[in-house]
Amino acid sequence: MKSWIASFKRSFPKSLYRFDSKTVAIYSTDAWLASAAPEMVCFPKNVREVSAIVKFANQNKVPVTARGAGKGYVGGCVPVKGGIVLSLEKMNRILEINREDGIAVVEPGVITGRLQAEVKKKGLFYPPDPASLKDCFIGGNVATNAGGPRCLKYGVTRNYILGLEVVLADGTIVNVGGRTMKNKTGFDLVGIFVGSEGLLGIVTKITVRLIPHPQSRGAICAFFGSAVQAAKGVQLILEAGFLPATLEVADRLTLEAVRKAMGVSRIPPSDAYLLVETDGTEKAVRSDLKSIEKILFDLKPERVQKAFGDQATERLWELRRQFSGSLRATGMKKLNEDIVIPRSRLVDLFKLSEKIQKKYGIPVASFGHAGDGNIHVNLMLDPEDRKQKANADLALDLLFKQVIAWNGAITGEHGVGLAKMPWWSLAASPELRALHRTVKKALDPKGILNPGKFV
Ligand SMILES: Cc1cc2nc3c(=O)[nH]c(=O)nc-3n(C[C@H](O)[C@H](O)[C@H](O)COP(=O)(O)OP(=O)(O)OC[C@H]3O[C@@H](n4cnc5c(N)ncnc54)[C@H](O)[C@@H]3O)c2cc1C
Repeated sequence: MKSWIASFKRSFPKSLYRFDSKTVAIYSTDAWLASAAPEMVCFPKNVREVSAIVKFANQNKVPVTARGAGKGYVGGCVPVKGGIVLSLEKMNRILEINREDGIAVVEPGVITGRLQAEVKKKGLFYPPDPASLKDCFIGGNVATNAGGPRCLKYGVTRNYILGLEVVLADGTIVNVGGRTMKNKTGFDLVGIFVGSEGLLGIVTKITVRLIPHPQSRGAICAFFGSAVQAAKGVQLILEAGFLPATLEVADRLTLEAVRKAMGVSRIPPSDAYLLVETDGTEKAVRSDLKSIEKILFDLKPERVQKAFGDQATERLWELRRQFSGSLRATGMKKLNEDIVIPRSRLVDLFKLSEKIQKKYGIPVASFGHAGDGNIHVNLMLDPEDRKQKANADLALDLLFKQVIAWNGAITGEHGVGLAKMPWWSLAASPELRALHRTVKKALDPKGILNPGKFV
């Protein structure tokens, strides 16, 4: 047993930590491939306990890895250097929903979907909508700057964070930002902590901005003979002056997987799919849908479906929500990348997927948020095929190099974590990496927070 563990046990009540093998196994992984065991998992219930644990860790040079719901896709909360996993799951209270001020104050362990449902009861809207929202925590969303389909119109998590309470590496508790819509007192330190993947501080309280909930929503989905037509649809809708809430696309391989999973009758034998959702007043939604439908009809789609109102729109979304599950149901190992490209490169990206497929023998299924260029490129690996496994990194190398050459980014919402670490130096210039090291050193001089990651 490591020497610090005896000292920890003397300093803290038993109810605060566990280190039985079952607990350790659960807290060793996330939704990606990596796994590493911590020595101990702590379950603080308030900021004072978080501060005391982090202070102890700093004094004893023990690694501390913050953990939300463990639904990350890049191994971000995997404690590669052991030490303490600091689970925020017991800090799960919604402390305030204030209609007049348009804010909510929450603890980091609140499930994102729960926050959305609670504020909706008061006519308010928290727009960021990662597909994992029924499970992931708002604290994890802050630490990864999570996105989702609605980002095209509403922006990412950062755009809704007004203030944070953060425990720094030495245990100091600090508040950055506040609860007003604007605040230019000093640097934008909220922005430093949002997306910092647990490397700069532990987020213990979050003040989010809420907006009025849209009165109404509607959607159109169109199936096309080629990805080129779907991509054209995206451009034409935006060029016509519409800003839909979401503009989602899918390619042939994704549709094939869904056809297998849901039955052929529900999905025509088309090669591409586009889903457009608009929201706002009832009148505006009806009028937008009419105009968008006309734009899409001009592109000669093979099938179009339209929906108005919450329930009907949700029914149209059912298909979109099957993409990930259907690809997994093929029995292949799905390596989900979340690259971002300038929107004009959408067709080039689909061509690149085909090239990767031919060159490395790995099927590539792509779908995602076409409106903001954030596409989930899924390498579908046969678990039995050793050659494919060996080729996966080469395929990713080709993908990421091309994305960077197009002035895109290797990750739009999942973060760097462990998964993208091999490409960190490709994606960030030497000066940018040095700046990251300077910030890290200033805030965490002993390097105890989530060590072994990209900085
Ligand atoms: C099915 C599925 C669909 C998904 N869809 C999306 C999507 O549409 N958009 C998207 O952006 N992501 C998506 N993700 C990825 C993932 O859900 C998000 O990254 C989410 O924000 C992770 O939240 P979490 O609570 O699970 O965090 P975790 O996985 O527990 O942690 C993620 C990172 O945040 C750090 N962290 C967690 N809590 C804190 C805290 N309080 N203080 C400091 N650091 C902290 C951890 O150390 C780690 O580095 C999806 C994942 C799955 C499994």
